[in-house]
Amino acid sequence: MRLIVQKYGGTSVANAERLAAVAERIARKRQEGFRIAAVVSARGDMTDELIRLAHEITDRPPRREMDMLLATGEQISVALLAMALDRMGVPAISLTGAQGGIRTDQIHTKARIRAVETERLRRELEADKVAIVAGFQGINEVEDITTLGRGGSDTTAVALAAALGAEVCEIFTDVDGVYTADPRIVPDARLLSRISYAEMLEMASLGAAVLQPRAVEVAAQHGVRIEVRSSFSHNPGTVVEDEEESVEQDIVVVGVTHDQNVARVIVLDVPDQPGVAYKLFSALAEEGINVDVIAQTNKSVGVTDVIFSVSRDDRAAAVEIVEVVAQELGAAGVRADESVAKVSIVGAGMVSNPGVAARMFGALAREEINIQVISTSEIKVSCLIEADQVERAVRSIHEEFRLGEGAGG
Ligand code: ADP
Ligand code: ASP
Ligand code: MG
Repeated sequence: MRLIVQKYGGTSVANAERLAAVAERIARKRQEGFRIAAVVSARGDMTDELIRLAHEITDRPPRREMDMLLATGEQISVALLAMALDRMGVPAISLTGAQGGIRTDQIHTKARIRAVETERLRRELEADKVAIVAGFQGINEVEDITTLGRGGSDTTAVALAAALGAEVCEIFTDVDGVYTADPRIVPDARLLSRISYAEMLEMASLGAAVLQPRAVEVAAQHGVRIEVRSSFSHNPGTVVEDEEESVEQDIVVVGVTHDQNVARVIVLDVPDQPGVAYKLFSALAEEGINVDVIAQTNKSVGVTDVIFSVSRDDRAAAVEIVEVVAQELGAAGVRADESVAKVSIVGAGMVSNPGVAARMFGALAREEINIQVISTSEIKVSCLIEADQVERAVRSIHEEFRLGEGAGG
C-alpha cells in the first residue's frame, strides 16, 4: 500500500476550523488509498507563548525543563487532530515523539534525531489508522523528552518519511511553497516549482524559515522527496529533490534570504598576533556555539577588533566565554548587540558566474545600505547590515537579480 508523510505547521492547525480542514485533507488522501503518518506542530504561536511563560519564571530556565514545557504544545495538536478525524469516522491515533519512536541525542532544546524506531508506527498504520505524531520532540537515552530546535517538526516529518520509506514528505504550511524571497517581505517573490537539496539547505540555513535546515539535510541524505505546499489551497507547491532533476539550473541566483536572529559580538583591541583567533573560536566551539560570519579590523598598529555573529539565543553564553579569553589575551573588552541582520543570496550557478557578489553590493549601495561584514562560499554571499535596513535590502537585491514574478530570471 502507498504510504506518505504529511506535516502540518502551526498556522495550519491554529483553531478548530483549521483542524477540521486538515482532517478533511487527510481523510480525502486516505480515501485515495494512501496510508498516512501525519506530523503536527504546536498551534499558532503556542511555542512562543510557552517560551514567554518560562521567562516569566526565570531568565535561565533549565534546558531539560524547557523541553518538558515546549513538548506540550505539539501534544495538544496531535490529540485535537485525532479527535477531529474520529468525529469524521476516520480511525486515527495520536502519538508523542517518544511513542512515535523518535530517539535523539542528549542535547536539550537542540537535539538531533539519532534513530526512528518504527515498530509501533507500522503496527498502527497496518491497522489502517492514521498515525498522528507530535513534531519537534523525541526522547533521549535516559528517557527524557527532548526538542529539536525551532522549526523542528519539519525534521520529524522527513525523518519519519525516511524511516518508513514513504514515497513523499508533504510539508503543509501557510504559503504556497518556497519562494525566491520571503513572500511577506517581497510581494512579487516568485514561487519556485523545484529547488535542489543543496540550494534549499543553504536558503534554510540563511533564514528562509519555511523548512528547518536539518530537515533538508536528512532529506538529502536519504533521498526523501519533499513537497512544500499550502494547507490553504490545493496548489502543487515546490518540490525539493536532487539537482539532476532541477529545472532551475540556468538561473544564477535562486533566492534572497534574510535572518534577524543574529547577534554581533565585538572583541575590542585584541593584540594582533598569531593564535588569537584560534583561542577565541576554539573556546566557543568547545561549548557548542556556532559562529557565523567573522571579520577582523585593524584599528591601529598592533591591535585589531574581532567581530563575529552568533544566533541571538547564543549571545549571552558567547559573551561569557569570550570575556574570559579576552582577559587572557589582554583585549580591551567585549561588546555585544542585536542591531544587525544578515541578508544573503543563494545559487549553485554563482561559482561559474563572476560579478554576482558585485551586483549584490551594488543593490545595497543604491539603497545607501552599509555592509559591515561579508562572507562568501561557492553557493552564497552573505552581508551583515543594520537590522532596520534588512527588508529594503532584500527587496533591492531581489529586483537587481530580476527574481520577481514575470521577470523571467
Ligand atoms: P510552519 O508553521 O508551517 O512551519 P513557518 O512559519 O515555520 O511555518 O514557515 C513558513 C514561513 O516561512 C512563511 O510564512 C514565510 O513568511 C516564511 N519564509 C521565509 N522565507 C521564505 C521563502 N523563501 N519561501 C517561502 N516562505 C518563506
Ligand atoms: N512548534 C515548534 C516551533 O514553533 C516546532 C515547529 O513548529 O516546527 O518552533
Ligand atoms: Mg516551521
